[in-house]
Amino acid sequence: MATWLQGSVVENNQWCTDLYSLKISVDPIKFKAGQFASIGMEENNEILARPYSLVNTPHDPILEIHFNTVIEGHLSPRLARLGKGDVVHVSDRTGGLLTIDEVPDVPNLWLLATGTGIGPFLSILKTDEPWKRFKNIVLCYSVMTHEKLAYQTDIEKFQSDYPEQFRFIPFITREKVAGTISSRITTSIENGELEKQAALQLSSDSNHFMLCGNSTMISEVTTLLESRGLRRHKRREPGHIAIEKYY
Ligand SMILES: Cc1cc2nc3c(=O)[nH]c(=O)nc-3n(C[C@H](O)[C@H](O)[C@H](O)COP(=O)(O)OP(=O)(O)OC[C@H]3O[C@@H](n4cnc5c(N)ncnc54)[C@H](O)[C@@H]3O)c2cc1C
Repeated sequence: MATWLQGSVVENNQWCTDLYSLKISVDPIKFKAGQFASIGMEENNEILARPYSLVNTPHDPILEIHFNTVIEGHLSPRLARLGKGDVVHVSDRTGGLLTIDEVPDVPNLWLLATGTGIGPFLSILKTDEPWKRFKNIVLCYSVMTHEKLAYQTDIEKFQSDYPEQFRFIPFITREKVAGTISSRITTSIENGELEKQAALQLSSDSNHFMLCGNSTMISEVTTLLESRGLRRHKRREPGHIAIEKYY
C-alpha cells in the first residue's frame, strides 16, 4: 500500500503567469527518470492529490515538479500558492512507463512535449543513460508563448555537453520568435519541417518517439506517425511510440 510522506517546500519558482516549479524536501522515494508521483495537500482531513511528473533525477535528494495552474482546478492553484516551509504530501508509490528502459534499441530517440510535459524528459536527459544508448536525441518542446519556454538553462547545457548528439527544436505557436517553429508539432510533421530541422527521417526502423503533455497533440501526432508506418509501443509487442497524457 502507498504511504504518504510529509514533505516541505524548499522553493516555489514562478516562471510566468500560471506556470510554476516546486522543489520539495521529503524522505527519499524510489522512481525511474520519466516517472510521476502523487503530490497532495490536506483538505478536510483527507489528502487531495494529483499525479505530477518528477523533473529531478532519481539521485537528487530534492523532488521537483513543474506545473501550470488550471482555472477552477482543485489542487494546482493551491500548489501555486505554497511557499518555503509549507507542507506538501508525497506518495511513496511512483509510476509511469515513459522511461528509457521501456525503449527498444534504435539510433534515434525523439522526445515531444507540450507545455509542462517537458518535465519527464528533463529528468531522463539529466541522467547518463540516454546519452550512452542513442546516437541522436531530438527534443521538441511546444508552448504557446515565449515566456512559457521553461528550463532553458538545462536545455542549453544538454546542447553544450552533447552538441553532435542533441537537437533542440522549440515550437512557439502563438508568437513569431526567431529560431523557433511557429506552427504546431503536427503541422511540422505534415509539411516535412520537423524532419528537415532534425536532419532525420521518420522511418519506423530507426526511431522511437516519447510523447508527453496534452491529449490533442498526443492523439494527432500518434495518428500521423501511424500513417508513416510507426505503431504504439507495448511491452509484448515492441513499437515506436510511447505516450503519457496529462489531461
Ligand atoms: C500521469 C500524469 C502526470 C501528470 N503530470 C503533470 C505534470 O508534471 N505537470 C502538470 O502541470 N500536470 C500534470 N498532470 C496533470 C495533473 O495531475 C492535474 O490533472 C492538473 O494539475 C490539474 O489538477 P487540478 O486539481 O488543479 O484540476 P482538477 O480539478 O483535477 O481538474 C480540472 C479540469 O482541468 C483539466 N486539466 C488537467 N490538467 C490540465 C492542464 N494542464 N491544462 C488544462 N486543463 C487541464 C482536467 O482534465 C479537468 O477537466 C499529470 C497527469 C497525469 C495523468
